[in-house]
Amino acid sequence: MEYKYTAIILNKWDVGETDRIYTMYCLEGGKIKSVAKGVRKPQAKLASSLESITLADITIVRSRGLGKITGSIVENNFTAIKKDEQALLNIFAVFQLFDKLVDFENPDQRVFQLLQKYLESTEKNIGTGDQQKYLIFRYGFIVKLLDALGYAIGVDACAACGCELTPAKIGFSSQQGGVLCEKCLGQDKDAILVSVNAVKMLRLFLKNDLPTFSRIQASESDCDSMRMVVDDFLRWNL
Ligand SMILES: [Zn+2]
Repeated sequence: MEYKYTAIILNKWDVGETDRIYTMYCLEGGKIKSVAKGVRKPQAKLASSLESITLADITIVRSRGLGKITGSIVENNFTAIKKDEQALLNIFAVFQLFDKLVDFENPDQRVFQLLQKYLESTEKNIGTGDQQKYLIFRYGFIVKLLDALGYAIGVDACAACGCELTPAKIGFSSQQGGVLCEKCLGQDKDAILVSVNAVKMLRLFLKNDLPTFSRIQASESDCDSMRMVVDDFLRWNL
């Protein structure tokens, strides 16, 4: 059977003499793995349209097992990203995490669109000289992905007692699943102190569409505080 997929190529590795296995996230099939035969031969044309960080229309012939990639038509190869070291570092970190978080063959249109928007927004930022935006897109994407996959980070009321937060002192506990009020922060020795603006940033991530994150202006310390929360949450949940 021949299948057509709209896919974002995530990763690849060499197998056998001339073959390569690819992982990709598809609109129609979710995360899948398939093999391209002979793709490492010098005259093979398919390799260039199967690079990591490429949006392509992929044809896979499959009866059972991994199936065989027989065609790829590039829709967007994100050329600017591939020339930008900082963008690449952030995207590969995201892809690595994405691979851990997302199960095989569990399609989710929202996740596909999120991934596509993440790459498009990162590419739009290239040339602006704004390195911090790569981090904001990266962490914003992670927070939205976690939300789409059902790992909710509590950012509104105190995760321990349910009271409303006063902006004076806000804590965060991955174990309790979210932000803490000042009183509960004092009672949880594993909780971390988080800046008010970092919490606001997390709320913005959850409420707004990813491309609008280009308008977020944050100090380095607020950005660091936000990253600490997300990294801690990931360590706890992965
Ligand atoms: Zn509380």
